[in-house]
Amino acid sequence: MQTKKLKIIPLGGLGEFGMNCMAIRWEDDIIVIDAGLMFPESELLGVDVVVPDISYLVENKALVRGILLTHGHEDHIGGLPWILQELKVPVYATEFTLAYVDGKLEEHKLTDQIELIEIQPKVKFTIGPFTIEPIRVTHSLVDCVALAIDTPVGVIIHTGDFKIDLSPPDGNPGYTPSEWSVKPRLDEIFSRTKKKLFFSCFSSSIYRIRIAFELAKAHGRKVAVIGRSMNESTEIAQDLGYLDIPPGLIIHPGQMKDFPSEKLLVMISGTQGEPMSALSRAAVDTHKQARIESGDTVVLSSRVIPGNEKSIFRVIDHLSRRDANVIYDDGSQGLIHVSGHGSQEEMRLLINLVRPKFFIPVHGDYRYLRKHAQVATETGAIGQAIVIEDGDVLELDKNTARKNGKVTAGRVLIDSGSSIDVVEDLVIKDRRTLSEDGIVLAVLAINKHTGKVERAPEVVMRGFGGADITEPARDVVMRSLDGLSPEERADYGMVKERVRVELKRFIQKTTGRRPLVMPVVMEI
Ligand SMILES: [Zn+2]
Ligand SMILES: [Zn+2]
Repeated sequence: MQTKKLKIIPLGGLGEFGMNCMAIRWEDDIIVIDAGLMFPESELLGVDVVVPDISYLVENKALVRGILLTHGHEDHIGGLPWILQELKVPVYATEFTLAYVDGKLEEHKLTDQIELIEIQPKVKFTIGPFTIEPIRVTHSLVDCVALAIDTPVGVIIHTGDFKIDLSPPDGNPGYTPSEWSVKPRLDEIFSRTKKKLFFSCFSSSIYRIRIAFELAKAHGRKVAVIGRSMNESTEIAQDLGYLDIPPGLIIHPGQMKDFPSEKLLVMISGTQGEPMSALSRAAVDTHKQARIESGDTVVLSSRVIPGNEKSIFRVIDHLSRRDANVIYDDGSQGLIHVSGHGSQEEMRLLINLVRPKFFIPVHGDYRYLRKHAQVATETGAIGQAIVIEDGDVLELDKNTARKNGKVTAGRVLIDSGSSIDVVEDLVIKDRRTLSEDGIVLAVLAINKHTGKVERAPEVVMRGFGGADITEPARDVVMRSLDGLSPEERADYGMVKERVRVELKRFIQKTTGRRPLVMPVVMEI
């Protein structure tokens, strides 16, 4: 009887969209698949990115053998810099994915500390008890793989993100429409456009970028590339041979003035209305090179990611105000964008090809995991579907799989792109209070020796109409101090708490608001 078990432990992405990360453990060896980030929902004020809590991996540092990446999307690789700061382990990925990783390591000054190992489809490699074979899959990005991981109890197929594209643009083989299917409609838009054409898509959508370049060439437009991520992707794709750009097609943005507007295509970053992106700045006419003029056309060849509606439509409004013709995926524009993810038919096809004993849905909110499990079960081609969530430990032997226990899992909030700036929950709470109810500062000057309040306290209110209650608020502060014994008054912690409670109560009673109240004691 075998008593050893294989453990599958999702640390992110099972229960939310983003921050994909999964640990696979056999005895004293752990491998990690993907290390993604998630862009924060709007209620996480001022947080830039969200990454998975990897306490479990940190606690088992000595056992972690490496991180394997399925492809280069941010929800699969974006958390790497933060995870690699804690775990200096090798990263395995295909050539194209590694090019993105390289940039991230450089940005976070980790280049010299991390070993990058290139993997190739169909070329097996071994890490401890695991033998891994990458399998080519199609997706909206190039050089994506699924992973077949041979373990002591059986083979795990981790599909990564995929769609089944029977005619992908790179010739490596319905369903979600093929990447090519957007070309005819885009071709029409190119023919019809009289002035400058601005084209924006996800910078990682290399196929889409390629289609835009091909159309530019066919329609005699020079191409200017504007925006950091668009430039980076175009460069990597060119270096690795995914984009074959004829000499003279690309011009420097500064040269745009030398060409008539009908001879120009501007590839520009910012489909999601990101505030600092080139397109957002062009939309309000603060971009030096990307000037949008009356009659220009702007194509957003992308989808509206839920949560970004407001910022995207704000940009579209600004563009419309500049009298540009904006074409985006609102359902009325024909096929200008296709998804990189498979639809139900493709899920069914894959399940029928693999016919797994156990099926575990990954990548999404709980209701989607549930739905995916149902679809899998209805095919009749699987043994059992098991829905697990972040932190669940799924134990497997050759014949059984069952949930057994939990490890720490959750979200770590990062501020301003620095590893030091991990934001505590309290800070988020304060920011919410500040934005909704304002702030009150009470400044007290206390004599260190006598414990007496030296001057009338200052009360400063911001974020709500409080001018008329400033005076009464000062009285409240004075009265609350009067109520303290000399001993209590010598303890500033106690003074502050007393002032805070009284002031809060008073403001709530008179204004109905619950601002952040911060007493400050100055010793004199
Ligand atoms: Zn993806
Ligand atoms: Zn993904």
